[in-house]
Amino acid sequence: MKKLMHFIAGEFTSPDLNEYIPVIEPATGKPYASLARGNANDVDRAIRSAEAAFPAWSSLSPGDRSEYLHALARELDNRMEDFIQAESKDTGKSVQLAREIDIPRAVNNFKFFAQLIIGEESEAHTLPGTINYTHRKALGPVACISPWNLPIYLLSWKIAPALASGNTVVAKPSEVTPYTAWMLGEVCQAAGLPPGVLNIVQGFGHEVGQALTEHEKIQAISFTGGTATGKKIAETAAPAFKKISLELGGKNPNIIFADAPYEEMLATTVRSSFANQGEICLCGSRILIQDEIYEQFKKDFIRKVRGIKIGDPTDPNTFMGAIVSKEHFQKIQTYIDLAVEEGGHILTGGKVIEGQGRCKGGYFIEPTVIEGLSQSCRTNQEEIFGPVVTLQAFSDEIEAMELANDTIYGLSATIWTENLSRAHRIAEKIEAGIVWVNTWLHRDLRTPFGGTKQSGMGREGGYHALHFFTEPKNICIKYDSI
Ligand code: NAD
Repeated sequence: MKKLMHFIAGEFTSPDLNEYIPVIEPATGKPYASLARGNANDVDRAIRSAEAAFPAWSSLSPGDRSEYLHALARELDNRMEDFIQAESKDTGKSVQLAREIDIPRAVNNFKFFAQLIIGEESEAHTLPGTINYTHRKALGPVACISPWNLPIYLLSWKIAPALASGNTVVAKPSEVTPYTAWMLGEVCQAAGLPPGVLNIVQGFGHEVGQALTEHEKIQAISFTGGTATGKKIAETAAPAFKKISLELGGKNPNIIFADAPYEEMLATTVRSSFANQGEICLCGSRILIQDEIYEQFKKDFIRKVRGIKIGDPTDPNTFMGAIVSKEHFQKIQTYIDLAVEEGGHILTGGKVIEGQGRCKGGYFIEPTVIEGLSQSCRTNQEEIFGPVVTLQAFSDEIEAMELANDTIYGLSATIWTENLSRAHRIAEKIEAGIVWVNTWLHRDLRTPFGGTKQSGMGREGGYHALHFFTEPKNICIKYDSI
């Protein structure tokens, strides 16, 4: 069985504790690798290596750093198929999804920031007799902590801007899905990245993650994960004045008006509900439908959902694979039971599926659609992060917005309408960092990405990410006039 080690100072290294955690394939429920269980000593070693690499890395020209990022993209691209298979095995997602989304996007993350950094400009402000110029400086060793749902996609989304802007990185992937982050160490070696520029420490969040965020040498923490963990990180970071960027949970509304472009809306709503088994922070878990088309939508949606192919993630026809872990699988079942207790009516799904062949013992749940629940119940308030959506009817714009905004979260929202004024009106009032109109998960990497309310603070994407990972310094020069 493969041992997934730390990657520190350009080498794969054993954990200080010499202990390993089993890594489970969700589609079979069986262990297939073991993971280094990191501790504070491993974190300290990684941070010292990042600290040693910082002066040389931050002194490189943006063009030279850009070349390294292009090399990382190239090496990742060369191993595209290995990464696709590994990501699917580790997470339970379909190979098809890893091929369409996860791995191409990880390659693009490196390419995108390799290009962006060479175009970065500094500012100057002049007055008679003075000139102010402002440039941005890298921070030092920074922490990048990522979740299990889009492992290499989200980890590279943080690492790429951190490195591009001259920082060195200690990355902490999720212990649930560590495989492609481990492979990234091999990519760094193949790309000739100088040792210590990127370090990857594996292990549990409360051990490695906590030690990393507490460490005095860490200047900034870029975190994506659950809201409860985000709060803990904020508590740790605040007294030490560390910069934090938090991308947290969501309970996103998908608002469908009677004048929606119907067929496109229907097909996209199936994806926005159940892509990656509903385990995308941007999935629309609360579907709000205008009265006039509620019954029609319900009928058509259920028909389509019943046609979803679930099963072995390696089957090219599979749309929904396995739930990421036994723990999460049980959590989702608890939420389905809760929905019934709260008076919900399951329109389709709701049950566990017995895997076939090699997938016996895998964690499969039917795509589940529930109606009849009030907005205030827990099912409609708490993040489930699985293949479970609820339907609610609304009569007009005011009611749609009240329902949409009535949670502690504010990550994303989708609006379906052909009425342009209405689309603008609602987009303005929705409490969310990202609003899509007549589309979903349509991403332009230059745009600000992040949530309001308890969905996080700070924005990733484009210059927002480069600015997070740098500190502006203003220099004011007075000169005598002639
Ligand atoms: P999680 O918060 O449990 O873990 C995320 C990462 O934090 C993991 O690497 C974990 O090991 C680490 N961690 C745990 N405790 C820590 C601590 N005390 N200090 C530092 N690090 C710690 O989240 P998860 O279950 O892996 O992911 C699911 C969550 O992520 C969902 O809530 C989902 O909405 C959210 N998410 C948000 C976005 C976004 O962009 N807003 C994207 C994807 C996922």
